[in-house]
Amino acid sequence: MKTKKMSFILIGLLIILLQMSILGQASAQEDITQWRNKTIMWVGPHQDDEGGSMGTLAMLQANGNKIVLVLYTTGNKGSRDLEMTSERLAQIRRKEDANAMRELGIPTENYICLGYDDGMLEYVPKLELTEKICRLIRQYRPDAVFTMDPGTTWMRWHKTDHRSSAFITLDGARAAAYHLYFPHHRIYEGLQPFTVRDYFFYSTRESNFKVDITEFSENKIRARSWYVSQFGAGNFKYVGPEPDQERLNQQLKRNADRIAKGERISENFRRLSSSMSF
Ligand SMILES: [Zn+2]
Repeated sequence: MKTKKMSFILIGLLIILLQMSILGQASAQEDITQWRNKTIMWVGPHQDDEGGSMGTLAMLQANGNKIVLVLYTTGNKGSRDLEMTSERLAQIRRKEDANAMRELGIPTENYICLGYDDGMLEYVPKLELTEKICRLIRQYRPDAVFTMDPGTTWMRWHKTDHRSSAFITLDGARAAAYHLYFPHHRIYEGLQPFTVRDYFFYSTRESNFKVDITEFSENKIRARSWYVSQFGAGNFKYVGPEPDQERLNQQLKRNADRIAKGERISENFRRLSSSMSF
């Protein structure tokens, strides 16, 4: 009888402790709408993968934070236009991304492209990629990193660059925290170790964090409209660089109607506010 009573007390204590730790974690997550003067690094493989983060990036930029975009590839394979060449497509996609960033207010000097071939990340030595990301993390020391969700169950079916970039970004960020990984960064380049403490995983189907982007939803639609070589008929026959004005107007109207009805527009992420010691 006494043992049973003790078990109840212990279970009760465990439940309280568990609740405290969950609440503790929730309260440790900062309200990103209040962020000012932070550095946010967005990392992804292709010029248009920013799509699901654009409203959040525009909000963070408007609030006086620094956004740095890191692109693994030039996006030079993503066209079904038989007249297109890889070289031309890389140039087109760079311009499309620059135009999209302008709509979000992000300065073009904060754009870093590592220059790899689209679809080929899987075949680049992992050590090389991980070191590049590790160095960038140590250089920019971002308060938060946005990257493809490496944990989502559907990622395993996703295209190769998405899978590769999701894992490489995290591996690079983890390495950045420990000076014995790529020690020459510190010894010869003066780059100190740095621990990323806030991750926002996009392209997720296991989101736990919602950002209200209603105020920036129009910027997002305008930004996305610049990816003429990717979305719609332009992927089959490039007709850019100007966006399809009719399509854009329809999307803007639909968005305005939703907002007029009181609907809120949001973006979803899987957020991990931890130093990732696992
Ligand atoms: Zn992509």
